[in-house]
Amino acid sequence: MVTVGLTGGIGSGKSTVTRMFKDEGVHVIDFDCLARVVVEPDKPAWRDIVDYFGPGVLSSDRTLNRSVLAEIVFSDDKSRKALECFTHPRIFEERDALIRAIKRKDPHSIVLMDFPLLFELGLRKMFDKVILVHVARAVQIERAVERGGLAREEVGKRLDAQIPIEEKRSLSDYIIDNEGSLDDTRDQVRKVIHELRELAKEREGGSNCC
Ligand code: ADP
Repeated sequence: MVTVGLTGGIGSGKSTVTRMFKDEGVHVIDFDCLARVVVEPDKPAWRDIVDYFGPGVLSSDRTLNRSVLAEIVFSDDKSRKALECFTHPRIFEERDALIRAIKRKDPHSIVLMDFPLLFELGLRKMFDKVILVHVARAVQIERAVERGGLAREEVGKRLDAQIPIEEKRSLSDYIIDNEGSLDDTRDQVRKVIHELRELAKEREGGSNCC
């Protein structure tokens, strides 16, 4: 099995590229989905968050009010770290359980996880390979604003809290340039999958020898 982390800044095209990997038959673990599951009302992470931030971060149905929480943590490092301490260990437990289940069914698979803040959180070692979805900062801002939901200043603020995308290039094993057409991007995705499958095969061979 080969585990792969996919990352990139906000608006770089992570969700778009992740969908392409899924369409090509790669197992995908959705970080955002796990992040939502672990904070459902009354789960341990939810309780820790409400204890720490107070009931002001809850909506009327007792679910977390994500925009209130996002506003707090994006403007305060200590709060962001606290939130991560509450959620990440639980997310990793869920991830490990999913990986075990996939491995049982398909021991030579590629498992990809979309992880927006992979480098910022020092998680490089959790993956065999890392893919960066790359577009220039100006394109990131344009696309994130066009997609809707966030004002330009808010996108800029979130980008400033992330490691610059150019720096992430040097930390990654594969770069997918997502500035061109979706067809261009899909071609690159197929090439990367081909290389990852070769790697999975090599590993299979290696384990037979030993
Ligand atoms: P992220 O998940 O990194 O925040 P998304 O995949 O949601 O980014 O992409 C941000 C926006 O840019 C979306 O509206 C998406 O449809 C659009 N987009 C992504 N890739 C391309 C591309 N190659 N060409 C044009 N628009 C794109």
